[in-house]
Amino acid sequence: MPNYDEYKDWQRDGDILGIAVHHSATANRRTGAPSGDAFSFFDYHVNGRGWTHGGYNYVITGDGTIQYALDEKIAAYHAGFKDPDDELGLERGQYWNNHYLAICLAGWFSTDRTYRDGDGNIHAIPNNFTRPTPEQWDSLLELTSHLMQKYQVPVENVRIHRELTGNHTQCPGLNFDPEHLRHQLAETVPPPPPTIPPPNPGEHVILLADTGDTFSAALQYVWKFRPDVSFAPETVADRWKYITAVGNIGADWLAEYRRRGALVVDQISGSPVEIKDTLGGLVAQNRRFLADETPPPEPPPTEPPPVTRYTVQPGDSLSKIARQFYGNPALWTIIFDANRDVLSDPRLLHPGQVLVIPPQ
Ligand SMILES: [Zn+2]
Repeated sequence: MPNYDEYKDWQRDGDILGIAVHHSATANRRTGAPSGDAFSFFDYHVNGRGWTHGGYNYVITGDGTIQYALDEKIAAYHAGFKDPDDELGLERGQYWNNHYLAICLAGWFSTDRTYRDGDGNIHAIPNNFTRPTPEQWDSLLELTSHLMQKYQVPVENVRIHRELTGNHTQCPGLNFDPEHLRHQLAETVPPPPPTIPPPNPGEHVILLADTGDTFSAALQYVWKFRPDVSFAPETVADRWKYITAVGNIGADWLAEYRRRGALVVDQISGSPVEIKDTLGGLVAQNRRFLADETPPPEPPPTEPPPVTRYTVQPGDSLSKIARQFYGNPALWTIIFDANRDVLSDPRLLHPGQVLVIPPQ
C-alpha cells in the first residue's frame, strides 16, 4: 500500500457483511497462466486509472501466495455501479464496496480468451489455466474461511463478482463455480453455535423430581434465574417453552415436551451432589441452559406401539369392533382407514378376516 497515508482515515462506511471474489482477467499470452500480483494491479488502478487506492483487499497469485493489498477497514473499489436515484436501495451503487471485502485471484478463468495486439489483430490465448490453480484454490478457501469467522460472514454472503446486483460482468470467469466454493466453505467453516432466544418471564420452568433432594440442590439456580417451579411432570408440556428438568424425570416426558414444541429441554440428572454442581456451574457462568452450546438432541426414536389384530366374528360390524376397542362406535373410521387394503366397503366384513386395530 504505497500511498497508504493518503486514504488511511477513509474507513469503510458500515460493517463488513460479505466477501466478493474476483479474477484479474490477466493471463500470460503465450502460456495462458495467471499473471500479475498486488503490485501490478495497484499500478493499473492507481497510476493507470487514477484511483486513490487499489481495487482489492486481497490478491492471491497463481502460486497461491496471499497478498494483503488494502487495509480491510478501507472500502475497495471492486463492485461499484451507477444507481443515482438509489432505486435498488444499494447505497447508490456503493453497497458492495462499503460492505464486502474484495479478494482477487490473479488469472482469467474463462475458456477461449483473446487479446488484441497493437495493430488491432485479435489473437487466441492458449486454453491452459482456465481455472484457479490448486494452490490458489487452497489459499482462497483458507483466507475466505478465516475472514468469514473474523467477521461472522454467513456462507451465502460469499459471492462472486457477477452475483452482485447492479454489476454486469463475467468476473471471475465463466469457469468459476460459486456454488462449489460455497459448498466447500460450508464444510470447512464450523457453523455458529445455535442461539436460543432468552425466555420471557413466565416461559421458563424448572421441574424438580424427587423434591426433597433436588429442591435444595436447585435453590441457588432458582434464586439466580427466577424460573417458575413445578414438581409435576404432567403439568409442564404446552405450558412452558423452556424446561429445565432436574433429577429423575422419565425420558418419555422429555420426549413429549420436545414433541409438543418446547424450545429447550435441559436435563440435569445425577446424584444430588452432581446436580448441585451442574446447576452451580451454570449459575457461575451466568448461563441459563446447558443447551446453549448444543442443539437439543433429537427425541429418541419411540417404539412403535404394539399392533393389535382382531379376527372378524360372525355378526361383527366396524362400529361394533370400534365400541369393543375404543368404547365408542363412532370411531369405526379409524379401523376402516387402517384396513383399506383388505376392506373395500366398510359395510362388508367377512368372518375370519384379520383387521389391524390401531391405537386410538
Ligand atoms: Zn470482479
